[in-house]
Amino acid sequence: MILSLKVWEDSPYDGCMEKAESISAFGEFLSAARDVFFPSFCVNCRTRIILHPNPYFCQTCWDTYTPVDRPVCEHCGKPMGIRVGFDAPVELLCPICRQQTEPGYDRALAVGTYEGILKEAVLLLKFHAKTLLAEFLGARLADFSESDLDLQNYNALCPVPLHRVRQRERGFNQSQLLADALAHSIGYPPVKHLLFRNRPTLPQTHMTLKQRRNNVKGAFTIVDAEKVAGGSFLLIDDVMTTGSTLAECARTLKKHEAERVDALVLCTTRLDKLFSP
Ligand SMILES: [Zn+2]
Ligand SMILES: [Zn+2]
Repeated sequence: MILSLKVWEDSPYDGCMEKAESISAFGEFLSAARDVFFPSFCVNCRTRIILHPNPYFCQTCWDTYTPVDRPVCEHCGKPMGIRVGFDAPVELLCPICRQQTEPGYDRALAVGTYEGILKEAVLLLKFHAKTLLAEFLGARLADFSESDLDLQNYNALCPVPLHRVRQRERGFNQSQLLADALAHSIGYPPVKHLLFRNRPTLPQTHMTLKQRRNNVKGAFTIVDAEKVAGGSFLLIDDVMTTGSTLAECARTLKKHEAERVDALVLCTTRLDKLFSP
């Protein structure tokens, strides 16, 4: 399915492309200077990285990331881990989505699975504050969007918000950085802050599906309801596990009459790894 973004017509961001191009040329110069004076080494194989946009992984290691195998669940975008034959179900829905009782997002897609080099990159970004990675990973979201989504169909990119206490501790919101980098890569208007996390939620790693849903229930509010009614939005997040958080964000937007809410994530946990330790 090709989805396509109708940017608000009164966008105040006209003319930002020229500025973005000159910033990009300056960025390339800085990147070359950084390679000469402060060489980087791949965190995985220790090879020196020369003129590669990713300052933490060499191209050879990066190329080992696992894209999402098709077929995928038609709702959450997780790889189904099956072969499609004549005996395959007509409607491809994973066990998680078959249990879905309340509507959330319309459709989610992921660039890769949460394992190997992609998992390592997310952990470096999130827990070791390697925020330079966000630009590279955001560009991967942009590459993926070019083939599988039409971003012109959405009114705004909507990163999943962190609670202000968590954001203060971490110093940044990785979903926000990814959404900013995606927007920058495609010359898209800066990301709007439409969602707000109104209470802290517990870590969900060891929770069941039901516990995860309850944990995030009512955790989000809308910043500007007028901008939401009748609009289409693309949620952006780093990792999807069961999709409970993304679904709750979507429900919040839809309660304020959003017409369509999809989600794009950098990586998704495989179904067979969902509740394993
Ligand atoms: Zn390497
Ligand atoms: Zn699914």
